[in-house]
Parts: sequence; C-alpha cells; structure tokens
Amino acid sequence: MSRVEGSVFITEPEAPARCEDCGKLAELRPYGPGGTRICFECGEKDPEGTERRYRAWCRERGVTHAVNALPGHPEEGEVRVFDPGGETS
Ligand SMILES: [Zn+2]
Repeated sequence: MSRVEGSVFITEPEAPARCEDCGKLAELRPYGPGGTRICFECGEKDPEGTERRYRAWCRERGVTHAVNALPGHPEEGEVRVFDPGGETS
C-alpha cells in the first residue's frame, strides 16, 4: 500500500481493483483525469497529463521525495526529488 511518511512518498504495490477508465481489474493509481483511479495502461494514454497529476498529488501532500518500492518495476529503488516549483530533478 503506497503511503506518505513525512515528506516522502513511498509507492508500493496495491491490491487490484476496477480501473475507473477501462474497467480492467488491475493495480490502480489516483492520477487519472479528475483524480480518478486508473491502471498503468490508461495512465500511458496521456503520459504527460498523468505525470502532471502525479506531481500535483505529491505537491498537495507536501512531498519532497518519492521512492519507488515496486518489486520488479524498472524504476525500483529510484528516488525522485521534487523542487519547490514542483519539477523533478
Ligand atoms: Zn485502465
């Protein structure tokens, strides 16, 4: 279960649920249009929008660092640092 600890957002595996876009049973993230919970494939339909909503989600929660803790994910173990303007480095 993904969680925010202080200013660190830890992305972890989620239990599968119905994607609010395509209806598929999959792992969802809350970065769809209007905050809908969507699957990875639906997020990839609009990668820039998904990225923008992901950053906004983190910014709203005061997140300064995001850690990918998804086993087997291509970015597993990577840490993203958000600057005050909301961009990443
Ligand atoms: Zn979907």
